[in-house]
Amino acid sequence: MDKEPLIYIDGEYYPKSQAKISVFDHGLLYGDGVFEGIRAYNGVVFKLKEHIDRLYQSAHTMMLQIPLTKQQMIEAVLDTLRRNNMKDAYIRLVVTRGIGDLGLDPRKCPKPTVIVITGAIILHGNEAKTKGITTLISWVRRHPVDATSHEIKSLNYLNSVMAKIEANMANVDEAVCLDKNGFVSEGVGENLFIVKNGKIFTPPVCSGALHGITAQVVSKLAAKLGHEVTESNITPYQLFNADEAFFTGTAAEIVPIREVNKRQISNGSPGPMTKKLMAAFQKVVLDPAEGVPIYP
Ligand code: PMP
Repeated sequence: MDKEPLIYIDGEYYPKSQAKISVFDHGLLYGDGVFEGIRAYNGVVFKLKEHIDRLYQSAHTMMLQIPLTKQQMIEAVLDTLRRNNMKDAYIRLVVTRGIGDLGLDPRKCPKPTVIVITGAIILHGNEAKTKGITTLISWVRRHPVDATSHEIKSLNYLNSVMAKIEANMANVDEAVCLDKNGFVSEGVGENLFIVKNGKIFTPPVCSGALHGITAQVVSKLAAKLGHEVTESNITPYQLFNADEAFFTGTAAEIVPIREVNKRQISNGSPGPMTKKLMAAFQKVVLDPAEGVPIYP
């Protein structure tokens, strides 16, 4: 049998089949916790510091005191990758409120639980990348910024799960979520961009979307290629009539969108701007200067 991968829980390493946490952990009971999805390419953890910063900002927003310094957290991620002898990985970093009682009061949880899982993820395969994916605008609205906004990367993903179920039932690849005013916000785990008349647009953060790290990388790459990205409200009409549309995310990377609620986007194939950005993105993830080496 293949050796089981090791999972980090609170400073100890457990084989996958024994990596368990308490049923009284408020991460499970109340979705009370934060997480990050991070990616390593060819021995370098892409944008690791940026992901760690976002994790601590999510935790700060929900007054969750992470029991490690940022540097210790980086070491925990690198050490888990080294123990599992990995160069390419999808890393899931989770910090929950910890073990409490059956009430939701976080004061009953004295010690947060820290988990690092290093595995693999394929959200959209090669066909999705070359042909584009189909989507559906879901009736499930993104929470407003004065509610459980997706700016906080919390363990409460029911909003996204419900939208994904709608997409599954309609037999399309992904869902698009609108904000409470009916403007486009993001995908279930991706940010969204459109291209119209050579200009690139993405919804503003007030749409309740996550501050995506891939989206920031893509905006910088676009600027380098001479195309500024404008943050602006995007209506469903503007999405249907875009010249190009694509999702970005750590797991998804860049995925062209070819259909929204049965409306074909342009001619139904990935457009030139999307392809240009995908090529630039595949290069930047392999640049050691863009991340932290696992084996220095
Ligand atoms: N939006 C949501 C809701 C997400 O969960 C994610 C990450 N999976 C993204 C956007 C993309 O963010 P990033 O590029 O930082 O992975």
